[in-house]
Amino acid sequence: MKAGLSSQSLVGLDRQELERLMESRGKAAYHGRQLYRALYRRRESDLGGMTDLDGKLRQALAADYEIRWPKVEGGFVSQDGSARYLLLLEDGTAIETVYMPEDDRITLCLSSQAGCAVGCRFCFTALLGLRRNLEAGEILGQVLAVAGARAIPPVARLNLVFMGMGEPLLNLAPVMKAVRILSDPQGFAVPLRRIAISTSGIVPRIEELGRDPGRPMLAISLNASNEEQRSELMPINRKYPLRELVRACRAYPLRPREVLTFEYVLLDGFNDSDADARRVADLLRGIRATVNLIPYNPGPGLPYRPSPRERVLAFQQRLREQNFPAFIRISRGQDVGAACGQLRLQGMEHRLG
Ligand code: SAH
Ligand code: SF4
Repeated sequence: MKAGLSSQSLVGLDRQELERLMESRGKAAYHGRQLYRALYRRRESDLGGMTDLDGKLRQALAADYEIRWPKVEGGFVSQDGSARYLLLLEDGTAIETVYMPEDDRITLCLSSQAGCAVGCRFCFTALLGLRRNLEAGEILGQVLAVAGARAIPPVARLNLVFMGMGEPLLNLAPVMKAVRILSDPQGFAVPLRRIAISTSGIVPRIEELGRDPGRPMLAISLNASNEEQRSELMPINRKYPLRELVRACRAYPLRPREVLTFEYVLLDGFNDSDADARRVADLLRGIRATVNLIPYNPGPGLPYRPSPRERVLAFQQRLREQNFPAFIRISRGQDVGAACGQLRLQGMEHRLG
């Protein structure tokens, strides 16, 4: 990986684009496939290391291209082993990616946008507003950068969740381009059922995703049990109301063994009553779904308080009584601001000015 920014980075190009790149240089398309495997399956960081390409070709490529990914600008390691990474993109924009080791696999929480325009009232990223969409290469680059920082080998089992900064369905084409490369056995080889996109509920994009055979798992941030409550928390509900969202979820063409996940952040005295739990069960009845209850991460600038532990357990119990699989999400990395919805570039705001 060279420091200069003069030549184009290959990261983000898909197999076809790499084949065409080779053909445009008068070479056979299969060299493009070799390059693809080297970039994503083996995660080579240097064109010089691609010893399956002939030496002359490597040199010629190196004159015009580089393998570059976002620079790790800072890392904050939590007591629980998870870590938050601050990455700098080439134009100086900062984003965050979270690393969470588990017993037998590693979960990476990826950003799809720098900031977010959706403006949910309980979310730190919302306070940033939208800086810009990320390109496919910047999404893949997060995996490459954190894999580099943590020495994660290509054989490691990964879970990838688009639950970092941004609304993935408002940047769907680059997100899906990245997902195709991430899930490709010749690419990062992460199975589609190990990749999840989380959305605040962009209804037409949910329908579009449902038609895509290469889609990963889908999680919906529900967070409320009726229209009024949801509109207050998530302004997007005025554009795509709860009844439309639930209708789209009901119509979502689930594959065998695929389920929808509904995320629900519990806010003290706001959306955490037994009556709320009953309404959630009524809303989702008949949808093959699990509910993830997320303990709220409070903080400066956000108006809510977390529900007490007993309330979280009672809410889970009410859902289970109605035969809904409901899980309480462990909130990891809270001490370093890496937990759900906490990403907002603490201490780095000046860079974004
Ligand atoms: N924009 C997408 C994905 C990123 S947010 C979405 O909204 O789904 C990922 C998850 O973090 C969402 O389920 C959101 O509801 C949750 N979240 C946001 N702010 C939070 C906070 N302060 N505490 C706990 N969870 C939060
Ligand atoms: Fe954006 Fe998701 Fe945060 Fe809402 S919860 S502001 S959609 S990142």
